Amino acid sequence: MNPYDIVLIAIIFILGSVIGSFLNVCIYRIPAGISIVTPRSRCGSCGRTLSSIDLIPILSWIFLKGKCRTCGEKISPRYALVEALEGLLYVAIFYRFGLSAVTPVMWLFISILTVVFFIDLDHQIIPNKVVLFGLVSGLIPVILYWSQGYPPYQSGVWYEPLLGLAVPFSIMLGIALLSVLLFKQSGIGMGDVKIYAPIGLFIGWKLALMSIWFAFFFGGLFGLLWIFIFKRDKKEMIPFAPFIVIGVLMAVFWGEQLLLYLY
Ligand SMILES: [Zn+2]
Repeated sequence: MNPYDIVLIAIIFILGSVIGSFLNVCIYRIPAGISIVTPRSRCGSCGRTLSSIDLIPILSWIFLKGKCRTCGEKISPRYALVEALEGLLYVAIFYRFGLSAVTPVMWLFISILTVVFFIDLDHQIIPNKVVLFGLVSGLIPVILYWSQGYPPYQSGVWYEPLLGLAVPFSIMLGIALLSVLLFKQSGIGMGDVKIYAPIGLFIGWKLALMSIWFAFFFGGLFGLLWIFIFKRDKKEMIPFAPFIVIGVLMAVFWGEQLLLYLY
């Protein structure tokens, strides 16, 4: 790697971790119904408004040894982990799509998915606000597709974006309804169904269907481990959106190769 590349990767990692820091705020505040813009972040324990030096992604947490400077209360390592994860994902997206318009679109998409992953993990919900934001920002790849092309759709007909919007959503809805009919309860929630509308806009119906397959494969595998290895209760709710996000990431990074292999 030449020095130019190293600087570029470092800048992209920092960008991702700064966005990750903002996503932490979204993950905490959106389910609580608090504005994501104001007020500035505070310590959850003593209420002191955090200064700029407390807000440097990852490094603040390390230098403060995971404690608030004022009251000494522990700060969850998850904040720093989300920031580091986002930095790595931003770099990975850059490696996958290079210097193209797809890269910033995928950065936006991955950021939305990060919020979905952690809010569902914490609260077993996907807020409608997040779905709506995904739908509105999902117009960006649609406009790109119609104006200059958008490789994640794997090309296709002019109404490809409409298929992206409708096909994965309908299949998830079908699965939800079928599981209610067969098992008298749904394994997936309406949030899991709805989030597939923006997912279809961002990656097209082909990769989205692949991600559904991955999500059920890994979700099912985890469910079996949960019941038979960890001896947990069948009735316990396992949030499904984290598996959706893992499935989408696999489709984004390896789906194209897999499609070529399948055809
Ligand atoms: Zn404090």
